[in-house]
Amino acid sequence: MAAQVERPRRRRDPLVAYLYRIEQAKPVRPMTPAKWAALVKANAARRMCPQCHADAGYVIPVSLGMCAPCAYPADEQRAA
Ligand SMILES: [Zn+2]
Repeated sequence: MAAQVERPRRRRDPLVAYLYRIEQAKPVRPMTPAKWAALVKANAARRMCPQCHADAGYVIPVSLGMCAPCAYPADEQRAA
């Protein structure tokens, strides 16, 4: 550990942040190619619109549950 930062808080223990040198810090579980592939696949699934089954190019917002063109058809966009 390289440093420790304490941020005082009222009536509670200070907020402590432990700072590590990046070259000394090791990830707990290194990412394997299989894990990266799973991550990419999971992200691709999250980008696919369940309505039009197209890759929206971004993660589908949970609040919409579909891509923007499906959530907001052109007709409604003109009216708004
Ligand atoms: Zn869509």
